[in-house]
Amino acid sequence: MTDGIVIIGAGEAGVRTALGLRSTNASIPITLIGEEPVEPYERPPLSKTVLENKEECGTPPIISSFETLVEKNISFVHGSIVKRINRIKRQVMLDDGVWIPYLKLVIATGARPRRLSIEGEEHFFYLRTFADAQSLYQRLRRDSEILVIGGGLIGLELAACARGKGCQVTVIEAAPILLSRVAPACVADYIRARHKTAGTKIIMGTQVRSADMKAGKTHVALSDGTTIVADTVICGIGAYPNESLAEASGLDVNDGIIVDAQLKTSDPDIYAIGDCAKFPQSRLNGIPQRLESWRNAYKHAEFLAENLFAPNASFSDIPWFWSDQYNISMHGAGYLDLAEEIVIRKLEDQAVVAFGIDSDGALVSVTGVGLGNSIAKDIRIAEQLINVRAKLSHKLLADVDVSLRHLLRSVV
Ligand code: FAD
Repeated sequence: MTDGIVIIGAGEAGVRTALGLRSTNASIPITLIGEEPVEPYERPPLSKTVLENKEECGTPPIISSFETLVEKNISFVHGSIVKRINRIKRQVMLDDGVWIPYLKLVIATGARPRRLSIEGEEHFFYLRTFADAQSLYQRLRRDSEILVIGGGLIGLELAACARGKGCQVTVIEAAPILLSRVAPACVADYIRARHKTAGTKIIMGTQVRSADMKAGKTHVALSDGTTIVADTVICGIGAYPNESLAEASGLDVNDGIIVDAQLKTSDPDIYAIGDCAKFPQSRLNGIPQRLESWRNAYKHAEFLAENLFAPNASFSDIPWFWSDQYNISMHGAGYLDLAEEIVIRKLEDQAVVAFGIDSDGALVSVTGVGLGNSIAKDIRIAEQLINVRAKLSHKLLADVDVSLRHLLRSVV
């Protein structure tokens, strides 16, 4: 085999890189290696439409079929785990002992669910893969009692799916508010109210202490001394980057594989992208950040496919995410951590858009929630305002009669 580009991980970042590279370079050998034994698929629907299906577990949209990968002359080694990277010989070793040489290596190994380190944790379910979704699907039956640990995005999406299927749902969150990492209080309150209307019970400021299985039910002991009994306990408390392969080969890691603005690791022939990569945020004065979001994985791949052989460009993009729960959508963009003040714009149907303003008075984040896609347009325009660090009157930002497009025109 001629040395070419080897990509470890056939998720959003890995597959998009392979497809993007092929469109810019018709001849270079590309090998994509993925642990999961299926066609590469989109992960976000796993906690949404895939579980919502009434008849049978839905299948997530695929990123690329086996046939397309063959057509594009991308060698796809699926159901295989890369166990070692030999940086001296520039080879990776698969779990069957086969070595594959590389000219450039891309690590796109993603992330795995964070597990609770408590007694009885082995009785909990987690959601990362389609296989996880299939086993959860069987358990989300009408009237079954579901306990979701974690009031973050995935936990709340799971709660909404389970409630939609008629399960009795309780969400337990250790923090005193929901979605504390991604949403300001007004957005979190809107989402909490929607869950309450749907009949989901939410317990906040309480932790899980231990779990035990008795007569087919999971008994979960809480920090307030009470016990919840559930048919199924699903844990959604964040994720860890899959960095051990990189670490074992001597690459720099620290809660993610450290890369520079070109997405290059501490080895000039190895790149890391997507959920596993910690990259310098140009808008945060280069502070390294790791993002677990679909668009970040997509944009990293797009950037790398264009710039792998043109190493002077720097990656730059504003973080963006979305979440669907029941009939509402939440979107967020920018850097909520930098916001010193929140300005709220109230729209029709109680939709709300919250702008984050930093200590210089510049717009640094936007988060919104509303029925269907009602806030998507405002978020897109606000993203452009964040891009130019717009300094706007708080009164105008809050005034629903002043269009954001008009405000954008006033600053660009
Ligand atoms: P992954 O998609 O995790 O792909 C990595 C792949 O690498 C995996 O298939 C893994 O098995 C494989 N792999 C790992 N190690 C090896 C190895 N050694 N050898 C071979 N293969 C290996 N983001 C949003 O913005 N909005 C959403 O609404 C949203 N919803 C989500 C819902 C769920 C249930 C999940 C799990 C994620 C969601 N995300 C969402 C996040 C988004 O899906 C991820 O950010 C994105 O999938 C990251 O892509 P990736 O390619 O970096 O990693």
